[in-house]
Amino acid sequence: MNVVYIVVGAVVLLWFVGGIYRKKQRKNKIIHVVVDSCTGCQRCLRKCHHNVLDRVSEEKRALVFVKNPDNCTACGDCLSSCKFNALELIEKNKK
Ligand code: SF4
Ligand code: SF4
Repeated sequence: MNVVYIVVGAVVLLWFVGGIYRKKQRKNKIIHVVVDSCTGCQRCLRKCHHNVLDRVSEEKRALVFVKNPDNCTACGDCLSSCKFNALELIEKNKK
């Protein structure tokens, strides 16, 4: 029985430490729009709940841009919504 407690405790501890590590990693990242790949479909706008992205109209198509970079938590939710590989998380200091 003690072995079960030890295993469960170890799993919980690893999960907790992993969460802190992932949060720290994300702190240094920010979303970036690869303009050449963006079709302007706006799926990412609907996915982001932090009002980071916005739409800008161009002559032939609408693109998105990073309007509020400070709001980006680097959660990555918008990445999965983009079917065109037009979004990526980059290091903040690369911007
Ligand atoms: S989901 Fe991708 S292609 Fe569509 S607007 Fe957003 S970045 Fe552009
Ligand atoms: S990474 Fe998260 S917070 Fe940043 S733009 Fe995408 S959905 Fe919004």
